[in-house]
Amino acid sequence: MKKYKVAIVGAGPAGYFAAQALQNLASEELSFSIDMIERLPTPWGLVRSGVAPDHPKIKTVSKVFEKIANSEGFRLFANVELGTDLTIEQLREMYDAVVIATGSAKGKKLGIPGEDLPGSMSAATFVPWYNAHPDFKDEAIDLSSHTAVVIGAGNVAMDVARMLALEPSELDPTDTADHAIEALRSSSIRNVVLSARRGPEHAAFTAPELRELPKLEHTNVVMNPEDISAAILRAGEDIEKDTKSNLDAMTLIAESEPTSHDRTLTFQFLATPIEIKGNGKVEEVVFQRTGGDETFSIKCGLVITAIGYEAASLEGIPYERGKVVNNEGHVDGNLFVVGWAKRGPSGVIGTNKSDAADVMKLLVSQLEEPKKSGDVVELITHNKVVTQMHWEQINAAEVAAGEPLGKPRRKAVSREELLNLGAL
Ligand code: NAP
Repeated sequence: MKKYKVAIVGAGPAGYFAAQALQNLASEELSFSIDMIERLPTPWGLVRSGVAPDHPKIKTVSKVFEKIANSEGFRLFANVELGTDLTIEQLREMYDAVVIATGSAKGKKLGIPGEDLPGSMSAATFVPWYNAHPDFKDEAIDLSSHTAVVIGAGNVAMDVARMLALEPSELDPTDTADHAIEALRSSSIRNVVLSARRGPEHAAFTAPELRELPKLEHTNVVMNPEDISAAILRAGEDIEKDTKSNLDAMTLIAESEPTSHDRTLTFQFLATPIEIKGNGKVEEVVFQRTGGDETFSIKCGLVITAIGYEAASLEGIPYERGKVVNNEGHVDGNLFVVGWAKRGPSGVIGTNKSDAADVMKLLVSQLEEPKKSGDVVELITHNKVVTQMHWEQINAAEVAAGEPLGKPRRKAVSREELLNLGAL
């Protein structure tokens, strides 16, 4: 029996699915010891810091992650940072293979004037803020204006717009960060405009997310019926199934009886943002009608761009156009990459499963004789490593703290608080 050591960097969905694929590839001839290294004191990546808190079902995949983590040969090393506590070169030296699964944490930029004004930010800041990511807990989000504009027509834009337009009491039974619920409770925003540069037929939303909108109990959801009927005409007869489902869901929204709640979420199509204006902070967004010359502006105090992500680079790893340079997941030598760092920010959580399985097959096909010496334990010099045992303590403490409040968990926010819960 040959026993190989694999280090996976990043404890998000892609990392766990890579570990699972290796566990499935184990046989009487080969086995794996898997060390998962994570920068934060908590694992689960986007499932903890990205998925919208009002989508608890999507988070149940964490049960799968915990099963993987409790399988023989798996160890978690959280609160350990590549580049600070250890280097990629050290890992490559000690392990038979190293898998990068660090996702895409940086929000893409529009590249228009005014984008850096206070009050303009990326979903890559806003989403982890409301999800209690320790690095974003102190972000000052200005919710004092009447109108917010969200730019982008994907599911992240939809999550962001929904979070801003919800009646905050709807977040009470969720695991939204306490600081975010408090801020949203005193928010003055009553009008959220989600703005797409192309037409409804090209929107990147998925139909289940659109179908959910009419269920919002305290928010008017507005789409212009003419926008949708024009899109249906443009899309023609020969239309893709997903586009048809989207347009059907949008037709239902556009044709539904108007409601008169205090809060409104309006969809705007065919509007390209060209400038964000304001004196010291965001005051308006200027748009150009896509494909035309007409310009118009929307007065607002907050602009959130949700137009895609790119990978934040790590030293010692080659990057190009927001991704790790790779060939089918192989970077070079014993270095591999999975998930959004490999293929860019697309697909749902489950997409990472088949993707990681393919890359792990390739990895196994390239293994040589197992390396004998060393592992990550020899490299880490601090004593605040969150192992699986510590994480289970943190997890149980958060769930217990949420229980009397009717929440699935009450998230600890700072690194110190998290380490305390893990008795570290
Ligand atoms: P996305 O689906 O790729 O959508 C990005 C949006 O940004 C597109 O509408 C795109 O429009 C627009 N955009 C890009 N550059 C722009 C620019 N310069 N100006 C204006 N608009 C611009 O990305 P995402 O929303 O970040 O989501 C990432 C992935 O996660 C997706 O696969 C998504 O489905 C998934 N996700 C799923 C869920 C869920 O299942 N509930 C929740 C969140 C995210 P163009 O098409 O015109 O480029």
